[in-house]
Amino acid sequence: AWPIRLDGVSVTYPNGTAALRDVSLTIDAGEMVSVVGLSGSGKSTLIRAVNGLVPVTSGTVTVGPYTVSGLSGRRLRQVRGHIGMIFQGFNLATRIDVYRNTLVGRFAQAGALRGLLGVPTAHDREVALSALHTVGMLDKVWTRAGSLSGGQQQRVAIARALSQEPSIMLADEPVASLDPPTAHAVMSELERINTERYLTVLVNLHLMDLARQYTRRMIGLRAGEVVYDGPAAEATEAD
Ligand code: ADP
Ligand code: ADP
Repeated sequence: AWPIRLDGVSVTYPNGTAALRDVSLTIDAGEMVSVVGLSGSGKSTLIRAVNGLVPVTSGTVTVGPYTVSGLSGRRLRQVRGHIGMIFQGFNLATRIDVYRNTLVGRFAQAGALRGLLGVPTAHDREVALSALHTVGMLDKVWTRAGSLSGGQQQRVAIARALSQEPSIMLADEPVASLDPPTAHAVMSELERINTERYLTVLVNLHLMDLARQYTRRMIGLRAGEVVYDGPAAEATEAD
């Protein structure tokens, strides 16, 4: 697991929107932290700053041994290979089976196409199947991803990220499009990979209840600023 560190990070988009303002925080290796805030508060931008998808206007972002905010091109892609990503919309290739979707994670560094066309080694297969086992989707390996329920698709997306053997996992509103029981099931999976695989997890949520239930530490964002950073259990809507 890797720590994540932001030092005085500000992100202003080209149109002038200040999405993050002087954000400083450290997430320890192996910690699971939620980021909670209204739509537009900067949660996605925070995640995109951590994986280098948006350039920071000022400050530095560090993941493990790398200063992400100073990297580009091949070196940035190399760091991203260590970062598992989960999105609200699952982003699976719906026409291919669960197994191939999972393998895509392992070939991310070589480009997604290799995941579809390349020949996996015995070790690749072992890692992918182990990831599917972790999220309880082993019995669906040959099912077309598009025919799965939303909750099942998100679990495959988690397996795809796990098959990268990442050092940190970033989840951008991973349960926002799921019904409550399914949302709880997916949050439990994230909690489990955090503890069982000792993986640093940063998860964006718009529901504080989920943050309280599944994460010990919560970061509250409002208009791009950190307005709360402490025990999730003690956070109130006013924070
Ligand atoms: P979120 O789920 O993070 O609230 P939104 O629905 O607000 O996302 O935005 C969807 C996409 O549109 C995101 O990729 C975001 O970066 C982009 N976006 C949001 N606001 C703007 C904007 N003012 N100008 C350009 N792109 C935007
Ligand atoms: P959240 O994830 O909490 O909904 P975002 O990080 O998506 O927040 O957005 C923070 C602010 O930045 C919002 O005002 C949003 O409209 C704006 N924004 C997001 N993406 C873009 C973009 N690509 N271009 C311009 N503005 C953006």
